[in-house]
This record gives sequence, structure tokens and C-alpha cells, in this order.
Amino acid sequence: MHPYTVTQVNDHTWQIAEVYHLPAALPMYLIVGTERAALIDTGMGLGNLRATTAEITSVPVSVYNTHAHIDHAAGNNEFESVFMHPDEIAGARAGFPIDRRLEFIELKTMYDAEAEELLKFAREHILEYHTEYPIGSVADGEKIDLGGVTLEAIHVPGHTRGSMVYVNRADKSAFCGDAVNPRSSIGMFPGSPTVQTYRDALERFLSLTEDVERFYVGHRLYAFSREDVKDVLRCAEEIVAGEQGEPYPMIVSRNEPIWGRIHWYNGKRITFRPENVK
Ligand SMILES: [Zn+2]
Repeated sequence: MHPYTVTQVNDHTWQIAEVYHLPAALPMYLIVGTERAALIDTGMGLGNLRATTAEITSVPVSVYNTHAHIDHAAGNNEFESVFMHPDEIAGARAGFPIDRRLEFIELKTMYDAEAEELLKFAREHILEYHTEYPIGSVADGEKIDLGGVTLEAIHVPGHTRGSMVYVNRADKSAFCGDAVNPRSSIGMFPGSPTVQTYRDALERFLSLTEDVERFYVGHRLYAFSREDVKDVLRCAEEIVAGEQGEPYPMIVSRNEPIWGRIHWYNGKRITFRPENVK
């Protein structure tokens, strides 16, 4: 079996998605220039992401992480050149143990008809994650020249401190990771940025991307429209204005869930903890 679905978006953009999590799969994006390619996120480290990118392009591939969570950065070791916002580097150095990743995949495939086959593949192919490898920094506003294709990094703290969105203005596209998704987890962990920080960052992001029409979100295979992103902003605004939401258990392991609150606006959801609103 193949743990990825590969979909060509345009002549220089591919979506590579880990299928353990359908329909909420984890999409990664390969943006290919004439000189090099940017791989936005690396998923859970299921074992042959590099071979998958090599089937698409022969130019050198650099990883640009949206953030250093276990489901976005655990495959980084397959590549020599890795970049992320400086505030994410500690997370990448803390590591992603194999047993935690397998547990995560088991939880996410609980209702998946193909879970058996997929888990078997994951157990056989999942890569060790070594924490000591070169990590370069990418700064807010930085232009990433791939040769004929340019990405621009925009810092959108909220889901994590160093969450980064990569924008291709020529394509009117943005690759958001978990900085924008249908259920944004904001302020669920001690020391996380507040919902207010996220609201401000998202407002700034929207003002910097008035030319962008497609916002490729985390954990879904489709893109949000500008109106969808505005819904997420509105959801955050209502929480900052005092909306309490409802109790929500965030399940990240077989242990007790992390209890927070959830608020909905027009189908978009934000999970948060009341102590991390302001
Ligand atoms: Zn995340």
C-alpha cells in the first residue's frame, strides 16, 4: 500500500496527503521551482515521503514547516534542508517518539475501514525521529525564491507561537497548516498563545493577503475561501468578546482528554481554554 495520496494542483504544485486520517487527512504541499522545491510539512514520518517527492521532481527539496507538531514535522529527517520559524525549533528538538505517533494514528483510524492495513504499514515503515539535525530559521516576511516561483512566509501565531503560513501570490494561494483550519486549536496548552493573539494575527494575515483566493488549510484536502477565513476570524472575535462555548474533550492520547471549550461560527470551530483567551 501507499500511505499518501498525490494530487497535482497546478503545473508546479502538488498535494501529498497522509491517508491515515481520512477525510481529515494531513495534506502536505510540494511547490516546485526551476532551482529547488519547497515541501510544506512532512507528516508523521511514515517512511517514504522523500521517494514520493522524488517521483515528482529532481530538483533539491527543502522542508518548510508550518509548525513543529507531531503530525506535521515528524518526517523532517528524510530531508537535509529544513526551515521553520525560530519559535518552533524547541518543539522539533523535543522529538516525536514512535510509540506516540503510532498511538496517534491508532486513535485517528479508529473508524476507518482500512485501518488494519494502514496500521500494519505504519508499524513496519514509521521512521525513527532524530532530534539533532540542522534547522534553519524562516522569518516573517521572508521571500523564498525557488526559481520562477516565490513563496512568502507570514507569521500567524495562535495554534503555536511560531505558526507560519506560506503564500504564493502569483497563484493567489496560501498554505496555512493549522494556522487556519476548520477546527482550530488555540490556547489548549499551558503557555500557548491566547485567542486574542490569534485574532490579532489572523486579522493582520487577512490584511496582508488581500490578493489571495485559496487558503489551503490543515487537516482537510480542500482550500478555504477568503470568506471562510473571515468566519474563523469572527469565531475568534466572539470568544475574545466573552463567548464561553461548550465543553470539549480534545483527544490526543489514550489518557484523559484535554478538556477545553469549543465555539462555532458558521461551521468553523475554535477550541480553547478559558484561561488562554486574553
Ligand atoms: Zn498542529
